[in-house]
Amino acid sequence: MVLVKRFPVLSFIMKSEIPLLLKHRKRFLSLPCSPSSFMMRTVNSYPFYPHSMKRINRLTTSANLNSLPPLHQTSGGKVSRKAKKKEHMELPESLLKFKLDMCSRHGKLVEALQLYDEARENGVPLSQYHYNVMLYLCSSAGSGSLGQGDSENDDNLKELGMRRGFEIFQQMAIDNVVPNEATFTNAARLATAREDPEMAFDLVKKMKNFGIPPRLRSYGPALFGFCKKGNADKAYEVDEHMVDCGVSAEESELSALLKVSMDAKKADKVYELLHRIRATVRQVSESSAQIVEDWFKSDFVASVGLESWDVNKIKEGVVKGGGGWHGQGWLGSGNWRIRRTQMDKKGVCQSCGEKLVCIDIDPKETKNFASSLTKLAREKEAKAGFAKFQAWLQKHGPFDAVVDGANAGLVKQHRFNFFQVNFIMNKLREMSPSKRYPLLILHKRRVHGKPDKDPKNQKLLEMWEKSGALYPTPLGSDDDWYWLYAAVHCNCLLVTNDEMRDHLFQLLGSSFFPRWKEKHQVRISVSKHGIQLHMPPPYSIVIQESENGSWHVPTVTGDDLETPRQWLCATRSKNVSNSLSDLF
Ligand SMILES: [Zn+2]
Repeated sequence: MVLVKRFPVLSFIMKSEIPLLLKHRKRFLSLPCSPSSFMMRTVNSYPFYPHSMKRINRLTTSANLNSLPPLHQTSGGKVSRKAKKKEHMELPESLLKFKLDMCSRHGKLVEALQLYDEARENGVPLSQYHYNVMLYLCSSAGSGSLGQGDSENDDNLKELGMRRGFEIFQQMAIDNVVPNEATFTNAARLATAREDPEMAFDLVKKMKNFGIPPRLRSYGPALFGFCKKGNADKAYEVDEHMVDCGVSAEESELSALLKVSMDAKKADKVYELLHRIRATVRQVSESSAQIVEDWFKSDFVASVGLESWDVNKIKEGVVKGGGGWHGQGWLGSGNWRIRRTQMDKKGVCQSCGEKLVCIDIDPKETKNFASSLTKLAREKEAKAGFAKFQAWLQKHGPFDAVVDGANAGLVKQHRFNFFQVNFIMNKLREMSPSKRYPLLILHKRRVHGKPDKDPKNQKLLEMWEKSGALYPTPLGSDDDWYWLYAAVHCNCLLVTNDEMRDHLFQLLGSSFFPRWKEKHQVRISVSKHGIQLHMPPPYSIVIQESENGSWHVPTVTGDDLETPRQWLCATRSKNVSNSLSDLF
């Protein structure tokens, strides 16, 4: 499942044709040595001159494509672009690429192996691409992703994937074809299929020698492999290598490290990892929450923690960290009380009564974010005249709030509802210290479109326009850029139910934007009781470590208006400091 998460393509893989399996079993039954040593020899045998290596395997001779007669020459003797393309598509290697892509899409390893074997026999030149598709399919089969639920056939398919995968990887080296990141990552997956994370790690290390920067997915086989085996120290080595190569671990990797540290009873590492998860992931998935819960429930953890501590040092830690944590280690002693709970509107824990803090955003970070957003919006919306909007905002801004009109008018509505937007506009105007309308961003077609010719709607539009509160975004524009830019630029509230998770928002990265969103997004709910605006919470939805050593861990479940978010609350009875400074 981890692999499916890490390699989303896997989720598209369909079932393979098992009966064809036996056809190919005999060919590669005997390898000259064990697959593992065979594979490492292959890695080591790659010549160390990546630039001199060829992308195309020229060992084959029978299909010398340059000798094919030219097709569809124009009267001037020149080959048209279309004809060239057609000629290219008809090349045996192009046809093979197409067919292998199909096999990859449908998870047909046996068919792909047949095509591969035929191509080799017929001397079709094989490129890096062909090899990578083959390795991808073999490693998918090797890791059990192509199984159909029939244990005997699935085992055969796994075995076939691993055996042929190692052989194809070796052939790639013999044919002097340049490997790339995908080659190594697939080879590492093959190593993990053999339950050999050591080899998977060696393969990632070798990538460096080829000048190929490893990606997060390249580390997965080694990291998860060591974690699965419970080898915490080796997993930490992989983690260090990732840090050295500038690859940031995400929730899956950090959770796996957390689990292996817990099982190895490495309390300091668990503490360090919880803080890394706090800083990078902020809110955890259900599976990570379960790991955290198990930690606090374990018998071992009762004996972990400082009996006494310096309160001033804890306070210093909180200030230094920006609030919400101190980083001074486990505090207190005895068993923990761990509960699943909720926060009230003010951020008071319904289990232990502690009030969560609101962590401020550094204004410098906001400024940097605003400039990178400006750059992106200008690039993406250059044709749609984004510069004109910037000038308009300069003249008419700043605003206390920005309304994503398209979204606000459609919450719980089948058709765009101008009166719903009007209600929201008036409500925000009432709340505004300057009693000013918020900025309404609405697509031009909504402002001048046919259904909006209704005189009542027109009247509303005119009123907003006259008040300098309406900006119709031009045809062909993506209005998301406009409302987001305006809200960030004015550092004000943003009214939308858009969870801002699609491609556009992913461009903004995950380190700052989620924090900005949490503090600025106003959500709308429409019920029989009317329209309600939900202001940003007055506390931060992030893992929090309080000064007495308690922990509050938010989960991602309930990330909407209907379901309250679930939190883990971990407290212990003896969270009492014996510090002298506490007595005065
Ligand atoms: Zn609590």
